[in-house]
Amino acid sequence: MKTHARVVVIGGGVVGVSTLYHLALKGWSDIVLLERAELTAGSTWHAAGLLPLFNMSYTVGQLHKYSVDLYKRLPAETGQDVSFHVTGNLRLATCSERMDEYQKYCGTANTIGVPFKVISPSEVRELWPLIDLGDGAGTAKIVGALYHPDDGHIAPADLTMALRKGARARGAEINEQTEVTAVKRTPSGEWHLTTNLGEIIAEHVVCATGNYARQTGRMFGLNVPSIPVEHQYIVYDQSPELKAYRQAGGRELAVLRESDQSYYLREERMGWILGPYEAGAPARFADGVPDWFGKNLFEGDLDRLLPHVEAAQRRVPCLANCGIKDIVNGPIAYTPDGSPLIGPAWGVRNLWLNEGHSFGITAAGGSGWQLAEWLVEGEPGIDMLAVDPRRYGPYTSKRYVVQKNEETYRNVFVIHFPDEERKDARPAKTSPVYDKLKRMGAVFGQRYGWERANWFAPPGVAPLDRWSFRRSNYFEHVGNEALNLRRHVGVIDLTPFTKHEVWGPGAEAWLDGLVANKVPTKIGRIALCHALTRRGGIRTEFTITKIADEHYYVVSAGAAERYDSDYLLKQLPQDGSVTLHNITMSRGCFVVAGPRSREVLAKLTDTPLDNASFPWLTGQVSEVGLATEVYLLRVNFVGALGWELHFPIEYAHHLFDAIFAAGKDCNIAMAGMRAMESLRLEKSYRMWGSDLTPDYTPYEAGLDRFVRLNKGPFVGKDALERQLANGVPHRFITFEIHGVKDADPLGNEPLFDLDGNMVGRATAGYYGHTLRKSLGLGYIKPEYATVGTEIAIEILGERKRATVLVDSPYDPDNKDLKA
Ligand SMILES: Cc1cc2nc3c(=O)[nH]c(=O)nc-3n(C[C@H](O)[C@H](O)[C@H](O)COP(=O)(O)OP(=O)(O)OC[C@H]3O[C@@H](n4cnc5c(N)ncnc54)[C@H](O)[C@@H]3O)c2cc1C
Repeated sequence: MKTHARVVVIGGGVVGVSTLYHLALKGWSDIVLLERAELTAGSTWHAAGLLPLFNMSYTVGQLHKYSVDLYKRLPAETGQDVSFHVTGNLRLATCSERMDEYQKYCGTANTIGVPFKVISPSEVRELWPLIDLGDGAGTAKIVGALYHPDDGHIAPADLTMALRKGARARGAEINEQTEVTAVKRTPSGEWHLTTNLGEIIAEHVVCATGNYARQTGRMFGLNVPSIPVEHQYIVYDQSPELKAYRQAGGRELAVLRESDQSYYLREERMGWILGPYEAGAPARFADGVPDWFGKNLFEGDLDRLLPHVEAAQRRVPCLANCGIKDIVNGPIAYTPDGSPLIGPAWGVRNLWLNEGHSFGITAAGGSGWQLAEWLVEGEPGIDMLAVDPRRYGPYTSKRYVVQKNEETYRNVFVIHFPDEERKDARPAKTSPVYDKLKRMGAVFGQRYGWERANWFAPPGVAPLDRWSFRRSNYFEHVGNEALNLRRHVGVIDLTPFTKHEVWGPGAEAWLDGLVANKVPTKIGRIALCHALTRRGGIRTEFTITKIADEHYYVVSAGAAERYDSDYLLKQLPQDGSVTLHNITMSRGCFVVAGPRSREVLAKLTDTPLDNASFPWLTGQVSEVGLATEVYLLRVNFVGALGWELHFPIEYAHHLFDAIFAAGKDCNIAMAGMRAMESLRLEKSYRMWGSDLTPDYTPYEAGLDRFVRLNKGPFVGKDALERQLANGVPHRFITFEIHGVKDADPLGNEPLFDLDGNMVGRATAGYYGHTLRKSLGLGYIKPEYATVGTEIAIEILGERKRATVLVDSPYDPDNKDLKA
């Protein structure tokens, strides 16, 4: 074993070996993989080998697509067969909402170039002659299906061996029977790893340890939110009917998924493999994998599987004639949202995670590809926010992860409604006024562990969501909240905002070098600033207020707490000239906005609120009611006259009551997240994470006025200059969709020109209750971005006409917010 390497990958499952392969492909040969047993000894050896391209996530969809393409190429490159059976993949639907889900998915598939077809029941029968289409009595009727012709299943061990060959051929070293047992930092900042076979020093370490992610994380001081869950599949004996079908020349049947019954079925040696995602599967190894568990499996639990076996037998009657040969029950790594953890670890440098894979055979290629890109180039090549390990925060306690992972596992096949809010491990993090909001009818959702009021059920209306891809039970109430804010005054609890304070003689210069806009130099000024990637993409959005000399207050999205904090910390100058404090938990935030907000707040503060004393985009440290040290910022995300009150958290109850008492005669009412979504779309305000991502630069996002190329160096500046010289490939647009009955866009829908060519993609959409228009935001080729251009959008399978609107179609001159 080498004693020094540029990168050590810990873990020789398919994910670790793929990471090694892709690092080698990028030209790094001084790389070593350490595996405690033999390659594939973790979950990889017993995986069923399915490669579903279906995934609702724009990011994960791209990773899976890359994998499937790579696995087709690998045998020719390496000389190692991988048994890729391109059988296609058939997902059945037995209700219209499931078809809505498939249609929604088709939008994502279209925008990332995954081939698919939505097919009829008779086409299902043609593809899958052994199926019972259902009569609606004993067996639910199939109403349609989604078919992917390009995927299928593979032999996971062969795939791993092909990747191994590819990596070794490029100089990578692989050591089996080599367990990493301890880690420390060398004085020069490298990693010193102790193994049973000796010591090795590495510049970078990648953890790809599957079910061991938690104990590996602990060696590095990290609480990694990945805990495995039991997952089973049944291997059947040969099926006489299948044999007859194949002997008569029938092609291998597509992998079948009956989503509404939560199972998959595929051929295996003239028999079947049936894999349910069942309720009651327990999380395992929450405290780490015990020593006795090597290449082992758990005892099969047929009782848990039986309802799915019976459902599968109704759908594929010949299954009942097959005996069960084996039950494979193994640990499958999970995370609370079901997506893997791919990217840098938080709080430590040169440590990378490729952990938490529940579809690791499918994702291995793509995750290795992007992690290698990130490590070698300093940035990933695509937007990786959806899988970035820093999307989780310190709230992922062991119990939280156990509960969420079990919930996510049993929900793999549920309909993925865009407004779905799962129930387990809640409430976890609450704003101090949570109970007050609940009494006001709040219907909560959860983001980054926080409970957030999505909408408020008025008296007499049940505070419950009916999830849908279309306008649902809360539509009218959300509209009333939005309209009340536009006409009178609304309050939004945005306590989850990420909040940092930055002090010191170097504060201004440091922040200025991180963002594209000019950081405010005058006390009390606020600037919207974007931190960019080196490729010029939008990393994050900060609202920066200069509170005092050498003192800045930096606010960003609530879900970006660890992501932003980690970035800021890692960029902090080492000379002590800047101090950074994450104060997210010690300040709350209420937005008070609407034409009567000044009247309400004037009753609570002596700070003059008129335009001359307190103009738009300024902030003051004020007393409000009994509360002191309130950062009163004249900004908001809804495009109304209003202030954000960032207050010491201990004043939350007092301020909340005082604001409502002061607003009693002004029609004051709460507004939730969904009303905010409607209001911000009317103002074309871009949301970090959906509209603003590393895939697009500020020029593409139409944020030119927040870029100061003449101010001196900042991260991403060179890339922006290059883009200006070469041409900006996309433009951000706001558009109105015509003829919408009940389905507004939600993001990831393809945009077309009138000849049917795909020319862009939507990133968000909803109904603008003030404008009474169905609205979308998105990116499009520049020639279609002119106001008035007619385009088309596909929403749930229907092509709709749309027109490009002026940016900020509600109050384009900002008269309201400057009133
Ligand atoms: C029953 C079942 C069926 C499945 N079917 C599918 C499927 O059809 N399609 C699909 O995409 N996915 C499937 N999966 C999931 C898939 O198996 C995993 O996502 C995938 O194998 C994860 O690969 P990995 O490399 O991340 O982890 P692993 O394969 O578990 O590899 C991790 C490796 O790290 C090593 N290691 C741990 N700690 C150390 C250390 N300290 N030092 C050195 N080495 C260490 C371990 O020995 C292990 O070999 C299935 C899982 C199960 C349980």
